[in-house]
Amino acid sequence: MSKRDYYEILGVDRNADEATLKKAYRKLAMKYHPDRNPDNKEAEQKFKEINEAYEVLSDKEKRSMYDQFGHAGVNGNGQGGFSGGFSGFGGFEDIFGDIFDMFGGGFSSGKRKNRPQKGPDIKVQVDLSFKDAAFGIEKDIEVSRYEECKKCHGTGAKPGTNKRTCHKCGGTGEVRYTQRTPLGSFVNVRTCDACHGEGTIIDKPCEECNGQGNVRKRRKISVKIPAGVDNGSVITLRGEGDPGIKGGPPGDLYIVVRVIPHKIFKRDGYDIICEIPITFVQAALGDEIVVPTLDGKVKYNIPEGTQSGTVFRLKGKGVHVLNGNGRGDQYVKVVVDIPKRLNEEQKRILKQFAEVMGEDVHEQRKSFFDKVKDVFGR
Ligand SMILES: [Zn+2]
Ligand SMILES: [Zn+2]
Repeated sequence: MSKRDYYEILGVDRNADEATLKKAYRKLAMKYHPDRNPDNKEAEQKFKEINEAYEVLSDKEKRSMYDQFGHAGVNGNGQGGFSGGFSGFGGFEDIFGDIFDMFGGGFSSGKRKNRPQKGPDIKVQVDLSFKDAAFGIEKDIEVSRYEECKKCHGTGAKPGTNKRTCHKCGGTGEVRYTQRTPLGSFVNVRTCDACHGEGTIIDKPCEECNGQGNVRKRRKISVKIPAGVDNGSVITLRGEGDPGIKGGPPGDLYIVVRVIPHKIFKRDGYDIICEIPITFVQAALGDEIVVPTLDGKVKYNIPEGTQSGTVFRLKGKGVHVLNGNGRGDQYVKVVVDIPKRLNEEQKRILKQFAEVMGEDVHEQRKSFFDKVKDVFGR
C-alpha cells in the first residue's frame, strides 16, 4: 500500500514553516478529532494520518530524513529511521493540550464529566440608590436558576422508572480505544457516545424536566447588602448558584452592585463630595447656608470673604465604612454664582459699590500685578 505524502496530508507546501504546519495540523485535527466524529472510521483514519504527518514534519530531524528518503526514512524499517523513538512527543503533547482546551476538555472530558463538580455560578446585577449603597439595605433579588425537579427528585427518570447503567461504558461514561499507528499505539479515552458521558441511560425521561433532573426557576432571594458598597462591589452568596453536577456542591451567586448616580453627591471612597452654589453677596458677607447630607439638611456658617472653590468638611457625614466602623466625611465645595442678568437697579447699586470700593479695588489689583512681576521677573 502506498502511503500518502505527509505534506499533502496536511495540505501544506514542501517548504512550509513551523507556524504554517502547526496551523494546518490544528485545523485538521479539530476537524477529524474522534470526539467530533464518534464511530466514524474514516475520520479516525484521517486523524491518525494527520497525527503521523505532523509528528514527522514538526520534528526537524525527522522532517529532513523524510525529505531525503520519503516514508522509508522515517517509518522505522527503512535505513536509519528515527532512533529517538518518541522523542518528539514533548512538542506533540503541547499542541494536543491546545486542542484539548479548544474542545473544552477533549479526550478527558468524559472522565471529568462523570466526577462530582461544583455547579455553575450565577451573576446578577442589582441597582442601588446612592443612599442605599451608603447605609446598606435588605433587598429581594430575583434569580433565575436551576433547581432539582420535584417530580423525579432530580433523577431525570419518569416517576416509577429508573435509570440504568450504560452497557457500552459500564457506567464510567468513557470509552477507551487503542490507536495503532506506525509510530506506536496510543490509548485514547473519549466520552461514551451511548450515554454522552453520563454513565447511565434514561429510557423514559421525566416529562417535567425532559430527563435533565433540573428545572429553571425564578426565585426571590433576600439579600442583606452591607453599608458602604460601591459601584462594582460584589456580594457573594455561597451555594446559591446552580446545583452541583453528579453530587457536587452548588455554585455561588454573585451579586454585582451598580450604584445609580446621585444628582448632587459623588463618592470618593467613603467620602462624599458635593458642590453648593452661593451668591457673591453670601461669599462676601458670610452666611448660614443649608447643606444637604445623607442624614438630611445641615446648617453651616460660611465666613465673611469666602472665596469661590473653597472646600469645607463635614466630619462623619460620609458613607459607612464597608464591614467596619465609622463613616467618611462630606466635602462641600462652595461655588460663587456670578449673576448673569441684572436689572437696571441692581447694576446701579453694583456700580455704586465699585465706586465706594475705589481705592480698595485698586490696591488689590496692584498687589496682584506686583506678584505677576515676581513671576516674570519684570
Ligand atoms: Zn424531572
Ligand atoms: Zn456510556
